[in-house]
Amino acid sequence: MPATPQTDRPYRGRFAPSPTGPLHLGSLIAALASYLDARHHRGLWLLRMEDLDPPREEAGAAARILASLEAHGLHWDGEVLWQSRRGDAYSAALAELERGHHLFRCDCSRQQLGPGGACRGRCRHRQAQLGSPAATRLAVPADCRITFRDRIQGQQDVSLGTELPDFVVRRKDGLHAYQLAVVVDDAWQGVTHVVRGSDLLDSTGRQILLQQLLGHRTPCYGHLPVITDAAGHKLSKQTHAPPLQDDRAGDNLRAALRFLHQPPPPLEAETVADILAWACANWRLEAVPAVLGIHGVPTR
Ligand code: GLU
Repeated sequence: MPATPQTDRPYRGRFAPSPTGPLHLGSLIAALASYLDARHHRGLWLLRMEDLDPPREEAGAAARILASLEAHGLHWDGEVLWQSRRGDAYSAALAELERGHHLFRCDCSRQQLGPGGACRGRCRHRQAQLGSPAATRLAVPADCRITFRDRIQGQQDVSLGTELPDFVVRRKDGLHAYQLAVVVDDAWQGVTHVVRGSDLLDSTGRQILLQQLLGHRTPCYGHLPVITDAAGHKLSKQTHAPPLQDDRAGDNLRAALRFLHQPPPPLEAETVADILAWACANWRLEAVPAVLGIHGVPTR
């Protein structure tokens, strides 16, 4: 089904970090691009802490992320939304999907799952025999296709039914899954524009399907290239990306702007506030390269 994005409401953007570690240059790029796009459109920029997965979290990371954003002049609007406090909203969405007969329970082991982590229909017809623990999956019709126009990466056509079917909405350990939480919260926060890394492009088709089933509007999406190492792996905590140094905020912002192919702020822009004000006035999303990944950050 083609997703018609909303353009008739005032812009509300967001940044949604997971507190699995401190911010690094890759996460700053996503924060900065979503911030500049929102502010350039005179929109709000909201902050959501995706602290949904305690086993993957690092103690103190959420506070450190917030301090880093502040140090880089990236001030958000309103209160931070903490996903750890939103369990009831996720359960209500699951109940609605259940009423529509869109869910099934699955106790497949990793080895039994098909490509893309999908349950190959093994569990759908043996629901009565399943014990616990079991994951809850969304039953994706085999012919389900999602199309949308990404503001950076262009037209997308996802054969969800064959490529990424039957995804998890509630994990075996009882935790709500990222795909569900993000859709419930983007709708709750009234998000109209999502600007984030291309590593999440794969998730967007699933999120649009959930929006359609839950009766939510689809935001406009823009997926940025991610920074990669020489082997093409995304810069991340797993690939030992160094944490951002908050006392070098101006240099970090300038590096992020170079990565995004934005014009360099003049040297007279000394403070982070000056750099951001200049970058916001001169922001051009069209200049961001339409590629999924770029190796390193240009030095000048
Ligand atoms: N929490 C996710 C992450 O840090 C981002 C979610 C999103 O932007 O939709 O990768």
